[in-house]
Amino acid sequence: MTGRERVREIASLTNPLVKQLRALHGRKERRESGLFLAEGARTIVEALDNGQAPEILVYHREGRDRPVVARLRAACVKAGGTCLETNDEVLAKISRKDNPQSVVAAFRWRERGFDAVDPASARVFVALDRVRDPGNLGAVIRTADAVGAGGVLLVGETCDPASVESVRASMGSIFAVPVFEGSETDFLALCARWPGSVVGTALTATTHYRRAALREPVLIVMGNEQAGITEAIAGACTDLVRIPMIGRADSLNLAISTAVMLYGVAEPESDASLA
Ligand code: SAM
Repeated sequence: MTGRERVREIASLTNPLVKQLRALHGRKERRESGLFLAEGARTIVEALDNGQAPEILVYHREGRDRPVVARLRAACVKAGGTCLETNDEVLAKISRKDNPQSVVAAFRWRERGFDAVDPASARVFVALDRVRDPGNLGAVIRTADAVGAGGVLLVGETCDPASVESVRASMGSIFAVPVFEGSETDFLALCARWPGSVVGTALTATTHYRRAALREPVLIVMGNEQAGITEAIAGACTDLVRIPMIGRADSLNLAISTAVMLYGVAEPESDASLA
């Protein structure tokens, strides 16, 4: 197939590729195909900048001459992918939205287990125990990217990091931060061989989150939205800490508390664009 043949026009809502892309809103279909959806030119550029080209790129035919679309199309064709030029109706069907983005793409999900975590690659990592909310997960991935974390570790039964909601909330950081997935047993084994501090967060902890004497690399462990971290995970932590609260709230939102922890423990030392 030549580069020109890899760019196709699609106007029919019943085209099999349209059906395949729409089905990627479902977890089962994502797992079976190994593909996931990302929306918006900015997010897809983020993927390219992080070395990942789309397998299928879909864009509104009226935008075909935009420089950013030309760049995405060239990258997709070069990587052997398929480009589809289409209309509002098809984009709305794929996106399941009335006012869809004018560019969407399907990418291959990179599966990584806890064996692939390299503790020497960064100062800080964050693990989420049984995270349920894809918005929280995407926001954590985005914050992990902002502080230069080495990865986000998903422990046990979690929401899908490749869901449209999670990818959307990560604002492109899903392509910059490695996501590792594994069972609680595998996580406990990783904690046992972790070379630095494993810092669990718990509402019952008596140590202030900035007063723990921590050794890098720091592995921060955040709990499930309802149940917190399991007893087994708490037992595997070298430190248990809490962020102070003096008002009526009995806890902080998971993504917010993860941001406080990440910045408290590993605020980036330099941002050249700041005075
Ligand atoms: N009901 C849960 C419990 O009793 O552990 C807490 C749920 S809380 C919404 C979800 C997670 O956010 C917690 O497991 C913890 O990781 C983090 N978190 C929330 N507030 C926190 C605080 N003040 N200090 C440290 N972590 C906090």
